[in-house]
Amino acid sequence: MQQKRNKGLVPAGRILALSLGMALLFAGCGQKGKPATSQMTSQEESVATSSTETKENTKEASLHIMAATDPIYDFAKAIGGDRVAVTDLIEGEADEHHWEPSPQLLTQINDSELFLVSGAGLENWLDDVKASLTDKVKVLDMSEGVKLVKAEEHEEEHEHEHEHEDADASHDEHEEHEHHHHHGIYDPHYWLSPKAAAKQAENVYKAMVAADPAGKETYDANYKKVQAEFDRLNKAYEEKLKPFAGRSVIVPHEAFGYLFDEYQLKQVGLEGMLAEGQPDAKKLAQIVDLAKKEGIKTIFYEAYGDDKEADAIAKEIGAKTAPIYTLEAESKEDREKGENYFTFMMKNLDAIVASFGGK
Ligand SMILES: [Zn+2]
Repeated sequence: MQQKRNKGLVPAGRILALSLGMALLFAGCGQKGKPATSQMTSQEESVATSSTETKENTKEASLHIMAATDPIYDFAKAIGGDRVAVTDLIEGEADEHHWEPSPQLLTQINDSELFLVSGAGLENWLDDVKASLTDKVKVLDMSEGVKLVKAEEHEEEHEHEHEHEDADASHDEHEEHEHHHHHGIYDPHYWLSPKAAAKQAENVYKAMVAADPAGKETYDANYKKVQAEFDRLNKAYEEKLKPFAGRSVIVPHEAFGYLFDEYQLKQVGLEGMLAEGQPDAKKLAQIVDLAKKEGIKTIFYEAYGDDKEADAIAKEIGAKTAPIYTLEAESKEDREKGENYFTFMMKNLDAIVASFGGK
């Protein structure tokens, strides 16, 4: 149970108000122990490389990468194959929005050549951490070149704000300040869009080639396979979601803005963008109405989280609940079974299609 998300225990706003040192005290609450530099599982390997040499140890690797998120971890492993040692910064089921690095992790980051972060405001602890890093480790933002969307455009509650743009303009400074504490200016969940994630994977590839030019041949070959996976993924999403354009999906938190923009779907979040807040009675009633009206068959809960809220709604409308992956967490068990970015994204697609009564 230790791996349960720690929302509620550590409000993100409060963490940000604390100094890093103070925040570190809280880090243990929901974090799932130390990360291990893991070897590839056989299925990851099939995405990554055909080599059977997977026993290379961390010290012998040509490149050491600290991956700040699970998609970055998956892409770096797939592209790097045996040549790189990739460490997952937030291993296990702790989610990205409620997490702070421990002092041991700072040491591990410092032992890497590359520290690849997702950016777009996801790592709200990054400035503090950077201050503790040596020049040896290169911190690179993997959102570069991704067309980011402002958080408020992906949030239902903020729709009214667009009507008051003049008034907002005079409070710009204050607004930005507020947003930094609430969440970043941008919606950070771009990796759930296959197109934006493909850009992220490209950034990972380029970072690896730049840091280890001798490995270019390996990285090129593996990156080609990753690109082919993205082509398949994109095609599947396009084909399967086309008939359902305009429909709503009831999601656990507002993480699906980029994905749904791309395929003309609408997200109705039980919780907000930072997986915070809970629907009140009025919101719940609206969700139930919408679900009935649109014939929604599945209410989603956060994979690795609990399904209480989703279950209450599902019972009311005779729907069922199912997990959906925000890719903010991947369990060790799932990874050992060979799951990765692409398999989770396909599970999500099938589940979304099923939620409309399709197959
Ligand atoms: Zn999120």
